[in-house]
Amino acid sequence: MTGIDLHTHSTASDGRLPPAELVRHAGRSGVRVLALTDHDSTAGLGEAAAAARTIGMTFIPGVEISAEWRGRSIHVLGLAIDPAATALTVGLAGLAAERERRAAEIARRLDRAGAPGSEALERIRAHTALPTRTHFARTLAELGAVRGMAEAFERYLGRGCPAAVRSAWPPMQEALGWILAAGGLAVLAHPLRYTLSGGGRRDLAREFRDAGGAGIEVVCGGASAAQIDQSASLALRTGLAGSAGSDFHDPAIPWNPPGRLAKLPASVQPVWACPGFPEVPAEAA
Ligand code: AMP
Ligand code: MN
Ligand code: MN
Ligand code: MN
Repeated sequence: MTGIDLHTHSTASDGRLPPAELVRHAGRSGVRVLALTDHDSTAGLGEAAAAARTIGMTFIPGVEISAEWRGRSIHVLGLAIDPAATALTVGLAGLAAERERRAAEIARRLDRAGAPGSEALERIRAHTALPTRTHFARTLAELGAVRGMAEAFERYLGRGCPAAVRSAWPPMQEALGWILAAGGLAVLAHPLRYTLSGGGRRDLAREFRDAGGAGIEVVCGGASAAQIDQSASLALRTGLAGSAGSDFHDPAIPWNPPGRLAKLPASVQPVWACPGFPEVPAEAA
């Protein structure tokens, strides 16, 4: 197990816990070094950093940016970013506007498909500034339109479903540029989650590296030993460092609690040893 978790979500995006509560929950779970990486938002970072200071935890300001590569949605983590950097704040403002447009379209299509989309969006707006499909899935379940989040994705929100709306995310290189301009390290999130062939995945990792990327997530929440091996060899073949993150969203979902991550394989260079990453306590790794 490692005490480093570089991928988590709070109520600033689609997480269940407010930033300060997330920090305390992570601390109780054994996390010593924590990055908050909300989808397309840095709004939770100030509160989380303050909470981390009070419990002596090393806090890494982060973000998980939605981007596009070869027509697919991918996720790029920015770690140790300066959230005030202009290129980043301007970029994220554009993403927030795109999410608003998309949420309204998802609601319309849900209505048309006979599900309570507008009612869901009204509820979502009351408690978040950044609507995601997770919010729609959760709210449709709360309204009794589906039995659970998985069904919401299968019936309405997933690929090819009636409320699947194409998103205009920025090209991967552009998202990387915002992170680099904010002094951060860029990490390709959950590389095995994209539907790609082995060759496509290597192309993605190489282009990510060539655009200034520092690493890929090798240890993800819920990953099997075989998946960790597969990601580790992708990192080694493409000359990228490795990161570890739970992708924690919700304490009620047991597969990815922070603090329960496997150790990074010794063959992989840790992203937290890369130049520009804040010092981490030796015993945390
Ligand atoms: P969005 O960025 O708005 O497209 O929403 C993507 C988010 O939805 C991901 O970050 C996950 O947290 C969540 N998600 C995607 N697929 C599923 C699924 N099948 N079940 C539960 N959550 C999912
Ligand atoms: Mn999410
Ligand atoms: Mn993601
Ligand atoms: Mn995530």
